[in-house]
Amino acid sequence: MTTLSPETKTRNCQCENCICQKPIDKKTGFEVTDEFQRFNQKYDMFNRAAWDDEVRSDRVRKFFESYFTDLAEFRKVEGFQHRDYALRNAAWYIADFTADLLEKSDDRKEGFLDTYTMFREGATRKIDSTPEDNSKDLKRAAKFLGADAVGICEYDERWVYTHNYSREKLTDKPMDLPDDLPNVVVIANEMHHQTIETVPSALSGAATGQGYSKDIIAVLSITQYIRNLGYRAVASLNDTALSIPLAIQAGLGQYGRHGLLITPEFGPRVRIAKIFTDLPLTFDEPIDFGVTETCNVCRRCSDGCPVKAIPSDAPEFTDSMSNLKGVKKWTVDAKKCFKFWTNQGTDCSICIRVCPYNKDFSKFHNRILRWMMTNQLRHVALWLDKKLKYGERKKAGWWWSQSSA
Ligand code: SF4
Ligand code: SF4
Repeated sequence: MTTLSPETKTRNCQCENCICQKPIDKKTGFEVTDEFQRFNQKYDMFNRAAWDDEVRSDRVRKFFESYFTDLAEFRKVEGFQHRDYALRNAAWYIADFTADLLEKSDDRKEGFLDTYTMFREGATRKIDSTPEDNSKDLKRAAKFLGADAVGICEYDERWVYTHNYSREKLTDKPMDLPDDLPNVVVIANEMHHQTIETVPSALSGAATGQGYSKDIIAVLSITQYIRNLGYRAVASLNDTALSIPLAIQAGLGQYGRHGLLITPEFGPRVRIAKIFTDLPLTFDEPIDFGVTETCNVCRRCSDGCPVKAIPSDAPEFTDSMSNLKGVKKWTVDAKKCFKFWTNQGTDCSICIRVCPYNKDFSKFHNRILRWMMTNQLRHVALWLDKKLKYGERKKAGWWWSQSSA
């Protein structure tokens, strides 16, 4: 079990083995102060929807139910019709199925509140290999097993939740992540580009569900691979720890104004999972491809957010219940954002759709635009992005009419 550091820290942090600041913060760009507090999963917006009267409502309940049940009535507008919800909920099926497996019997919602436990024993003998070779082989295996991007970082207690949460009992649960797994493998999987172009729509929610479902297949398989090498490994999706800071520390990308990871390969259009392990590994370095400088001059996401949940000014400290305290960064107003989701009856990814990093980088001309955003040409790249109408919404009917051949 994790030995918890004090949950609440005072000014000029007094904790014995201070975890507030770490040398890696210089490379990731996070400014962490001694006001830092680790996050309790109870305050996640989806969990607040279960216990907090400021968030929960009949509309919220119907929003969650819509992922499992037939809607009483479909909207007449394109993108919110029967086939759109049918696809969205099918894309979520693997994620929901695995999350529900042990919920009633063991009070575990695996992948969303708790780590996964569905593994075979693995090998009793450890592979005889170096950390360098392990890392090389692991990355090769991870790509084969379905990860679109892989990075490795050191375990960082700051991003691990203080407690888990039980939506069955509406109470905190002890954090059950072992504290002797020193390495974290972080993977990212691409979300479908064309369906994201139709946001806001229930159809685009299929990209979210599909991203999670792909992540789960990859993270479970990679975890079993590590166990088959004779080492311990714990697979985690949205549960247990904050994925974005770990992904940044593992060199998968940078932090954007919209509060999301921006990767060089897929921009912000990714879902993240991670594996905590004692397999000896080497670490990757955080990367810098100009995202912070681009976000400083670009406001596509904060301008495009229909409820103005994304800040348009400089990074700052926040003191809201559902956000990390003591970290200077752009912070999305989670309450405003979630309210918009529940009002429209599906999740929203407008901030992903409009982001200039949301491009198909297999195309040469898009790679040129990405390169321009690494240097002084970023103003030209952002102007071109608008001029060429990147990020504009496409109709759901357009997507359904594409040939599937
Ligand atoms: S998901 Fe939608 S509502 Fe939420 S911050 Fe992004 S644009 Fe705004
Ligand atoms: S839309 Fe612009 S400001 Fe927002 S995250 Fe993307 S690059 Fe940064």
